[in-house]
Amino acid sequence: MFDKILIANRGEIALRVVKTCRKLGIKTVTIFADNDQFLPHANAGDESVSLGGGSLAQTYLNQRKIIDLAKKYNVDAIHPGYGFLSENSSFQQNIAKAGMIFIGPCAEAIELMGDKKESKVKMEQIGVPLVPGYHGENQDEKFLLDEAKKIGFPVLIKATAGGGGKGMRIVQEEAEFLGALEASKREASNAFGNDKVLLEKYIELPRHIEVQLVSDGKGNHYHFFERECSIQRRYQKVIEETPSPIIDDELREKICSTAVKIAEGINYLGAGTIEYILTPQKDFYFLEMNTRLQVEHPVTEEVTGFDLVELQIRAANGEAFGFKQEDIKQKGHSIECRIYAEDPDNNFLPTNGRVKKISAQHYTDYRLDSGYTDGNSISTSYDPMLAKLIVHADSRENSIKKMNHALDDVLFLGAKTNRDYLKRILSHKEFVTGNIHTHFVETYKKQLDQSTYTDQTRAIIIAAALFSKTIKEKSIWNVITKKLSKEIFIDEKSFCFDLLEQSHNKITFAHRGNEYTFFLRDFEGEYYSFEGMGDFYYAFQSYINQDEAQQIIVNSLEAKVKLVAKAQKTSMASLLGEGALQSPMPGKVFKILKKEGESVQEGEDVLIVEAMKMEHSIKATASGTVKNIFFKEGEQVQGGVLLCEIE
Ligand code: ADP
Ligand code: ADP
Ligand code: MG
Repeated sequence: MFDKILIANRGEIALRVVKTCRKLGIKTVTIFADNDQFLPHANAGDESVSLGGGSLAQTYLNQRKIIDLAKKYNVDAIHPGYGFLSENSSFQQNIAKAGMIFIGPCAEAIELMGDKKESKVKMEQIGVPLVPGYHGENQDEKFLLDEAKKIGFPVLIKATAGGGGKGMRIVQEEAEFLGALEASKREASNAFGNDKVLLEKYIELPRHIEVQLVSDGKGNHYHFFERECSIQRRYQKVIEETPSPIIDDELREKICSTAVKIAEGINYLGAGTIEYILTPQKDFYFLEMNTRLQVEHPVTEEVTGFDLVELQIRAANGEAFGFKQEDIKQKGHSIECRIYAEDPDNNFLPTNGRVKKISAQHYTDYRLDSGYTDGNSISTSYDPMLAKLIVHADSRENSIKKMNHALDDVLFLGAKTNRDYLKRILSHKEFVTGNIHTHFVETYKKQLDQSTYTDQTRAIIIAAALFSKTIKEKSIWNVITKKLSKEIFIDEKSFCFDLLEQSHNKITFAHRGNEYTFFLRDFEGEYYSFEGMGDFYYAFQSYINQDEAQQIIVNSLEAKVKLVAKAQKTSMASLLGEGALQSPMPGKVFKILKKEGESVQEGEDVLIVEAMKMEHSIKATASGTVKNIFFKEGEQVQGGVLLCEIE
């Protein structure tokens, strides 16, 4: 077995590889760009080395530097992770030339599968079903237009060197074709230095289904069943699961044995994935092969019980696995959610900032794979994926339930994430029934929008905002004798509620005809927890700006919240009613100048509060009779408390 491996990647995948190496007794070298120096992977290896600063090309994509380091540190093999250099055939060749081993397939397989046209030609030879289309040499535009007409619109134009959705154009009708072709070629030429394209029939409402393969070091090829990856946004997977809810045993056997046939046909080595597109009529077509480990590999590990990174390493070491295909079984169901630092309600734009806290809480029956720790900045130079959350249960239904729990349980405080959005998908009727396709997110956009907060959800946010105010300002309206109508802005939308009772740890309010009571359980700094409606909530608050709007995170809910007195009156006194006198700050009741029942004029002193060695006279805000004085001389009061009422 290898003695030492260098991991040519960052973040969660670097940590993932370290984990398996530890298990196998292999030493590791992790590398990091200077701006990643505080990330966990930067000192996760037995040895960790800086790549210096600069662009991606100077750091994680700098082959020469990485290979030189590998030699210097005496490593036997290099694991490329995913992304970066993982599908770069020259990296494999240069590592081999330097006398080390690339943990992945040989350069020929990487090259073949990196070219959408060449791989299709090969797939045809092997007898793999392809999307109807044209992938020949002829790039003449008139000729391609004729081919498109033969295929029938809508048609998809793809760059043969493409990846990450670049160079792809959907053409709905003949008239759009030539313009789209030109745009696609331009984009492909810029991105890949190669403007060759191919044409495919555009499949309406397809599913993305893929099959995990691993080939050992002795030419034995295994499949590890399918993954369903249809829930995507911007051509990026968001939720993956296995088994797929649509695939029956017969179809499973077909797609999996086809995948194994591909591995045999190209003498594959190590882990790879065959991506298929599945039509609503359940016809499946080869899309492409990813010649590396996938982001979503954990769901396969959960369901089959195999450590895929271990198998990659053993294959690269030339070992035979020694088990049979029949030894690999699917047990139960697994889901992965990708937690992105992004705002689903603002076009999935990445959000940046600092990860204040990231951790598993109490419910621990899930796997959290993350490359971040408390205090890390989220770099905008890389993918905004913060973590992967993975659950495993006996059925799909229970897996969804578990994931909902896990999403609430895990703490991601600091930056806006897609966590709540993931929950909205998980509870969508069509997702629950397994009726999904790659356009799920756009198709159900309206229903998945934030405005679909239920009254209960909003009540939780209101409670969180009220407790947050209590904690932040240390002000408690300890006696509330009349109903207070208040307004709350949640993500810039206004809602009303009536505060019925508030003490230091309990609030009762009415919202849209229902009454809610919540209890504050604990708080420390910006973190607090509360209970109500049969549930427990973890919350975090941070002020965003002077106008008192703040970001509140409660379990997986994240909202921008602003509490205001109704009718835009902002002073507490006006909120409490005309004759309510409040303590302006924490202090002591120094002197009471009027008795209950006595009449006062507006502006007259009623009592004096001493705070910070100064006396503050509390003046009547209205003329009338002193009705209630809630404190005695010498008693401590908190800022904002109601001292006295005038009627
Ligand atoms: P998967 O099919 O496993 O989701 P993707 O093609 O989406 O794989 O890529 C895996 C990850 O690697 C993604 O998070 C993507 O942003 C990242 N990635 C892909 N190519 C590169 C690259 N050249 N440099 C850096 N990151 C990359
Ligand atoms: P890339 O290399 O950019 O990942 P793929 O060929 O894997 O390109 O396609 C990316 C995504 O585009 C797929 O996951 C699928 O959602 C969609 N797609 C690809 N081909 C088709 C097609 N013929 N019809 C409809 N959708 C397609
Ligand atoms: Mg793809």
